[in-house]
Amino acid sequence: MTTRAAVDLLVGHQDSAAAGALSDLEDLFERLQSLSPDEARDVLLSALPVLVEEHGNVAAVYAEQWYADARAAQVSGRFQTRLGQNASREQVQRAVRRTAGHLYEGAPDAMLAALRGSVQKFVTDTGRDTIRRNIAADPERPRWAIIPSGSKSCAFCEMIASRGWMEGAPNLESGSFHPDCNCQVVPEWDKSRRNRIAGYDPDAMYGRYTAARDELAAEGTTPDAKLILSRMRDMHPDRYTDGHAVPAILREDVHGWPTDKLQPVTPGRWRHILKRHAPGGTAHDTFEGMTEYEIAKVIRAAAISPEAVLPHAVFSDIENRYIELDDVVYVVGTKVDGKLPQVRTAFPPNDESPIMEAWQSWKHEK
Ligand SMILES: [Zn+2]
Repeated sequence: MTTRAAVDLLVGHQDSAAAGALSDLEDLFERLQSLSPDEARDVLLSALPVLVEEHGNVAAVYAEQWYADARAAQVSGRFQTRLGQNASREQVQRAVRRTAGHLYEGAPDAMLAALRGSVQKFVTDTGRDTIRRNIAADPERPRWAIIPSGSKSCAFCEMIASRGWMEGAPNLESGSFHPDCNCQVVPEWDKSRRNRIAGYDPDAMYGRYTAARDELAAEGTTPDAKLILSRMRDMHPDRYTDGHAVPAILREDVHGWPTDKLQPVTPGRWRHILKRHAPGGTAHDTFEGMTEYEIAKVIRAAAISPEAVLPHAVFSDIENRYIELDDVVYVVGTKVDGKLPQVRTAFPPNDESPIMEAWQSWKHEK
């Protein structure tokens, strides 16, 4: 059975091949410093394909050897392993041309930063292509899965990985992997349905995917992959490497935020709300027992259709938006500063607070 330890070994090999390429890339940029933008671009156009090929070859040899070892540990019988294919010269040159504008803006570091992701992907893709080709040619017909390397991955990779173990030749449509991704294509020769790769739980991954899709559908939105991925990040703010600074449901009209009535919530205000009013927060009034996503949904509900909008007793530029959900009253404080009102804070006010008194007397009059 393929284990987490084996996957980690493969990831380690691929990461070291990519690290070698990135180190050479930095050396190359050092040598460009005295050159004009035209000269620097030409050096990169000729040198980068060679650099990528050299380290791609290392990644391929590592992956081929890994495959041979993993296979020998699980099945007997001879198999002629093979190497994957490197990115073409044209692909690498396209990456140079796409980012060379930075050289002419006097920002070679920005070009280096952009190229790092491409070079990491080119080299790691050669390793993944090696595994893919071996799986496709293997007469023992191993199953395969795309497996994120660590406890965290990006939401996109989790969506791909949630497909679980598959049969047949891996069809890795281009664009399966993104820069700085070290997810791996992993073979499994064991025919039983058990899975020994610790931390890889495709059912739980798929559950998060469908839960996000269902949320959107319940809101009357036709869910596409982009919206679903965005909602997965909202629902699990700490799980993904590409989480949102502010939930999309507090910023984007496609996720139900009323952008015609309120400004998008800013990172500073969202951090304030969580620090002060999330469970365990420093304020007196906290959203006890609620997740960040549930808090965001309350704020969105109050933004879309508040039951009352009342002026603050003290600050004339603050309007409080009230909503009552499951017998709990929540308030969202917004500041009017010429443009659309901006969310400042949100919490469930306690019974003694003047904010609650204002709500009670409004209800009374009504
Ligand atoms: Zn990944």
